[in-house]
Amino acid sequence: MGKTVAAGLLLSIACHGCTTERAAPVSSRSAAPKMILIIGDGMDQHQITIARNYLVGYEGRLTLDTLPERSSVQTQTLAEEDPRVPEYVPDSANTATSMASGVVTSAGRIGTTAGTDRDTLSIMELAAAAGFGTGIVTTSSVTDATPASFVAHVNQRLCESPRAMVTSNPTNPAFASDCSKDLKSNGGKGSIAEQIAASSIDIVLGGGVRNFDQLAEGETTRTVSDLAAENGYRLVRTPAELAALTVGGKVLGLFAPGTMSVQWRGAGDARAEEVAHVDGRAIYPEAFGCEPNPDFAMMPTLESMARAALVQLGDGDSFVLMIESASIDKQSHLRRPCGQIGELKQLDETVKMVLDYARAHPETLVLVTADHSQAAQLIPETSVLAALNAASPGHFARVRTLEGAVMGINYATNDSSSQEDHSGADVPLFAYGPGAEEIPAQIRQTDIFGLMLGHLGLAPPTSAPTP
Ligand SMILES: [Zn+2]
Repeated sequence: MGKTVAAGLLLSIACHGCTTERAAPVSSRSAAPKMILIIGDGMDQHQITIARNYLVGYEGRLTLDTLPERSSVQTQTLAEEDPRVPEYVPDSANTATSMASGVVTSAGRIGTTAGTDRDTLSIMELAAAAGFGTGIVTTSSVTDATPASFVAHVNQRLCESPRAMVTSNPTNPAFASDCSKDLKSNGGKGSIAEQIAASSIDIVLGGGVRNFDQLAEGETTRTVSDLAAENGYRLVRTPAELAALTVGGKVLGLFAPGTMSVQWRGAGDARAEEVAHVDGRAIYPEAFGCEPNPDFAMMPTLESMARAALVQLGDGDSFVLMIESASIDKQSHLRRPCGQIGELKQLDETVKMVLDYARAHPETLVLVTADHSQAAQLIPETSVLAALNAASPGHFARVRTLEGAVMGINYATNDSSSQEDHSGADVPLFAYGPGAEEIPAQIRQTDIFGLMLGHLGLAPPTSAPTP
């Protein structure tokens, strides 16, 4: 570090029918390197195409589409019972652990190894140890799987708060938690919220107030928020407080009890539904458009949170910032196409702001990716076999676009009445900045950890945990 940034910071490079740009070569380690990782939870290629059709039309281009480099990422998951055996469909905990720590683990684990429950070392911890800035921004609870995997270590993602460390769920044992070993009284680090409160992350923004406004383990008067304040965190609870934030010190901003409300919903709260068959005839659902979700009114946008984080992290020093649009996934689980589209819109607006930052700070590497693929598929709005009364299985939505056409979107990973599963396809990676053009066309998700380490000039952990 310490060399001057190369002149001629950006070069425009023509491509077929579009305008894109690559960052000009920057002499290595010329200025303090900065790393921004943007994750669209569940943002597979179906989600991107659906959102593009709705947001900018068939002929349009999202900001995402203009990033100059692109790769494809294989997700990896191991079986908890026998970590030698792969699973082909991941969850957000193990995929975020892959990106944050470069370690493949089992579904549901937060920064710990499959089977052996050893803590991994995350990019945030390595960056903080090097004196770099660190930030996490999400539209989920900050204790949810993706952000948690960058800061915490616990054997189950559900252990978000002191009260959630050991729970039962008679109706669905998969949603019970047992993190006894991680209780502070057993020598562990406590819940995800308590680990965030005790952390050195400079700025943490998202939802999840309910996980912080409960008594910390073993305390009779002090909440997790109190512990965070004692650890130097300024507590922010409203968009107005976020906008008025002065630079300096650590910040914990929580803007919703749990997941933050999403920006859009289907008109009249419409969502996908099962196709009815009456007297053997398929009755397709009515097409609908999208409308603002009134519950979003009190939320800061993802873009405004990401902007606040960049202001706090400053222009001069190295940092790593993870920004997540979490509810592309959550809305797809719930078969709500307009919710997905609105949250991808939030991500795309954030990418635009981040690219502007990166153009002004050419020592910045920007990676935009998804953690895993999701259920929603873009299919014909009327089956080619409609004359034979064929229709989509599962749940089906017909979304009317702003250019007057209709998208058919189906959800059919399971026959549950409540929510969909993930799917297991490779996910996209878009890149901008120094070294982006070196990224191979096909990588593994753990390679994202290596790309971030390499860009920041950090050494890999000396004793990488193995399953
Ligand atoms: Zn999910």
